Amino acid sequence: MGGGFIKTLALVAHDHKKEALIDWANQHKDMLLKHNIIATGTTGKRLQDEVGLTVTRLKSGPLGGDQQIGALIAEEKLSALFFFWDPLSAQPHDPDVKALLRLCSVYDTPVACSRATANLIVTSPLFLAD
Ligand code: PGA
Repeated sequence: MGGGFIKTLALVAHDHKKEALIDWANQHKDMLLKHNIIATGTTGKRLQDEVGLTVTRLKSGPLGGDQQIGALIAEEKLSALFFFWDPLSAQPHDPDVKALLRLCSVYDTPVACSRATANLIVTSPLFLAD
């Protein structure tokens, strides 16, 4: 995973998954406070207001935010992505969603698409080690 003690973590949630991501972030607030947090626009605003994190906010997902996160992955600046995408609703930016997940595979970037995997990543010895 790399990146030294302070990691750069990206958090993104589609509308129907925002509640779940906010809840997860509250549960892991102490850990998240130790890292650089990047998020898409609306997700980032809620992380600031409802969790109290300092967040670098990018554009909203449908307006290019997913692609901005993809660029960070391509530049190998991201340690992990927490991407709670909605499997039950059509998204106007579906190609961007797919592209973002694709880049995670290209660069072997850890990506959690739901709470269970998010919990596994942040409690992994590999995550905690460096
Ligand atoms: P949002 O974007 O945080 O601005 O809602 C998320 C997304 O749809 O990818």
